[in-house]
This record gives sequence, structure tokens and C-alpha cells, in this order.
Amino acid sequence: EQEELKVLKDQPTLTNDDYHVELAANIGTPNDLKGVISHGAEGIGLFRTEFLYMNRSDFPTEEEQFKAYQKVLKGMNGKPVVIRTLDIGGDKELPYLKMPKELNPFLGYRAIRLCLDRREIFKTQLRALLRASTYGSLRIMFPMIATIQEFKDAKTLLNDVKQELLDEGIQVSDRIQIGMMVEIPSAALLADQFAKIVDFFSIGTNDLIQYTFAADRMNEHVSYLYQPLNPSLLRLIKLVIDAAHKEGKWVGMCGEMAGDELAVPVLLGLGLDEFSMSATSILKTRKLIKKLNMKDMNKLANKAADQSTTDEVVNLVNDSIK
Ligand code: PEP
Ligand code: MG
Repeated sequence: EQEELKVLKDQPTLTNDDYHVELAANIGTPNDLKGVISHGAEGIGLFRTEFLYMNRSDFPTEEEQFKAYQKVLKGMNGKPVVIRTLDIGGDKELPYLKMPKELNPFLGYRAIRLCLDRREIFKTQLRALLRASTYGSLRIMFPMIATIQEFKDAKTLLNDVKQELLDEGIQVSDRIQIGMMVEIPSAALLADQFAKIVDFFSIGTNDLIQYTFAADRMNEHVSYLYQPLNPSLLRLIKLVIDAAHKEGKWVGMCGEMAGDELAVPVLLGLGLDEFSMSATSILKTRKLIKKLNMKDMNKLANKAADQSTTDEVVNLVNDSIK
């Protein structure tokens, strides 16, 4: 089976009726690049930059960050690389960053909320990202966007930083895509408006499920509510994909759901353009997609979104991929 998968390494991801989707990898550090390349990823769909800030006693400098981003962009040799700006807070804490004690950290001061408040932290990262942009195909993504204003504020700051660099005589690519994670229901519901001002969406199902079902993703007592295939979630995803496509924008997914064997046929049918997962899942997902037919998956997806329970969706999927 390993041999069979290896053959797929350098092939594009095509359905049996020749519809192309992109299979990308999630990474946490530049050290993950080797696995990404050996497993035949078509890009990086999520570089979680938190690692750069962890296990140390102070914030990483602009230069340290620049080197890490440059390494990943160079290593991917022109293939797209989505780098997510700092998503600290929630369950992820930094020893050198005093955070207020919160009753609900997952609903609190984290990610873009913190970055828009502590702008000196955010600006350092944005400078490093923009400086690295000339070394490959960079896509910058903001986490935990809940409102249009947050996205606009983040983008304005990014543009200010870009101008600053240009004034200093530092080159910045003018082909950087700027997108956002869709992991909060408010953003999914307003996707038609967001789609006009972003270059792409990446759906973060780990958090989107948590916030849609109001079920803490770390709490085992409510883990039965972690239901990627629940029709409610499928409808939110469909809303996002349809809204984006209407504006000619692409949609990826970088939560665990993107590599879930039962979810892939449905996501394909909903029109998802990019699936980002752990590198080790890529080849088996490519193999699965090669067997699927886009027209059939399209029907499956629409039917799935019309069911009332997760079990019903699971049965539908199992019947259709037999
Ligand atoms: C997500 O929420 O789905 C996601 C990819 O981000 P993280 O798991 O880092 O919160
Ligand atoms: Mg998330």
C-alpha cells in the first residue's frame, strides 16, 4: 500500500472526472518541511506561527521570524504557502506575556483580538512576513476574525507596514494574497460581505465546530458534540463556499475535518478548493479523491445538507462511496 501511495506523490489531485483540488499541508515549524515535500503536498495551507513564540523567554525578533518564514517560502519552491498570523490565547499561553485571567479563554482575548490591541507585537510579525514575501508565493491569513472591522483593521495595519518597508527601500512582493480564517459563526454568516474584501477563506473547523455547537474542544464530557458532519455545520460551510465563489475567491479548509475520510467526499461536493491537513494524510486523501466523481459528490453534498442528523449524513456518505 505504501508503494501504491508513493506513485501518487508527484501527481496532481484529480477526481475521476478530472476536477482538480489542491491538497496542502499544515505545519508548525520549518522543520516540518521535509515531511511536507516527501508526502507530495501541493502547498502549505496552514503554517501555525505560534511555535516561534513558544518555549522561550521573550518575543522572537523580526529577524528570527523573517528567517523562519523565508526558509519555508524558499523550501516550497514557488508553491503557495499560507502563513497564519499569531493565534495566541485560548489554550495557548506564553510565559513572558501576561494575560488576564479569564472565565472563558476560548471566548476571550486571543489571536487577532490580542494582535489588534498589542500592535507592536503584530507589526513585528507583519514586517517579517512582508520582508520574506519575495522568496516565494506568500499568502497571509488572519485568525479568529469575527467582524468586518477586524479584517479591515488588520489589513490597514498590514498596508501601513508595507508602506513603511517600501519607504525604507525594502522590497515587498505585490502578489501576496490576504485572507482570513472562517472559524467563528459570525464570519461564516457574513461570508458574502467578507468575500468582497478578502482574497481567500480558510475554514478552521476545529474552532468553527466548537463555536457552532458551543462545546469546548478540550472538554471530553462534551466531545460527543464535535460533529463535523452535522448538517448545521455543512450548511455553514456551504454558505461560505458559495459566497466566496460568487466573488471569484477560493476556499480552503485547514481544520482536522479536511483530512477526515468521511468528510472529504462531502467537502469536495460542496466545492471546497483546497484541503489542508497533516502531511501524513495527503497521499491517502489523494487516492480517495481519485476514485470520486465530482457530479456524484455534488449531489451527495446537497443531499447531506438537507438531512437532520449526523448519523443520517454518515449513512449517505457510506452508501455513496461504496
Ligand atoms: C481551526 O480552528 O480549525 C484551526 C485550524 O486552527 P487551530 O486548530 O490552530 O485553532
Ligand atoms: Mg482555530
